[in-house]
Amino acid sequence: MKSKKEKQKAIFLDRDGTLNEDKGYVHKIEDFKLLSGVIEGLKVLKPHFIFFIVTNQSGIGRGYYTHEDFLRFNEHLVHVLESHGIDIKKTYVCPHIPEDNCECRKPKIHSLLEARTQYDIDLRQSWVIGDHPTDILLGINAGCKTVYLLTGHGKHHLTDLKQQSITPTLIADNFLEAANLIVDYIKKED
Ligand SMILES: [Mg+2]
Ligand SMILES: [Zn+2]
Repeated sequence: MKSKKEKQKAIFLDRDGTLNEDKGYVHKIEDFKLLSGVIEGLKVLKPHFIFFIVTNQSGIGRGYYTHEDFLRFNEHLVHVLESHGIDIKKTYVCPHIPEDNCECRKPKIHSLLEARTQYDIDLRQSWVIGDHPTDILLGINAGCKTVYLLTGHGKHHLTDLKQQSITPTLIADNFLEAANLIVDYIKKED
């Protein structure tokens, strides 16, 4: 008999370059395009994990677009995912620029700690998926496992990742491959 309810496992998803095409400070709905394999990948992960988005949006802090622009774009994305049966529990956004030295900008783990408390998540059995070294650092800092994606900025930053000796748990060419690798990984662990 289990005396304690099992904690939830989460995937913390980067947004731009991971779920949708990153055209650089993307915020207009007409520029919204899901990357290939994202819906299929999320369906592979859905039986095992709950989903969050964690996104740095310094374009807000830089005045390139407003928080409302961000929300409109993000709600569109969340609705599209919803229409495919994918539920994003919450989106965590940092609107600041690096110089603000805030607590919410990745790779700081404030949002993951908040999610852990609110949703009773086991971070050690959770994953961060992203296309930037910052996403991998976020996962490492929070004690999660990580997948570095070669979509978005991933290929471009691969040398930075290696030079800074940042080691993701897994590297994947695209989102669907990431999802399949994660499921293989957790099945081996069981
Ligand atoms: Mg990204
Ligand atoms: Zn912030």
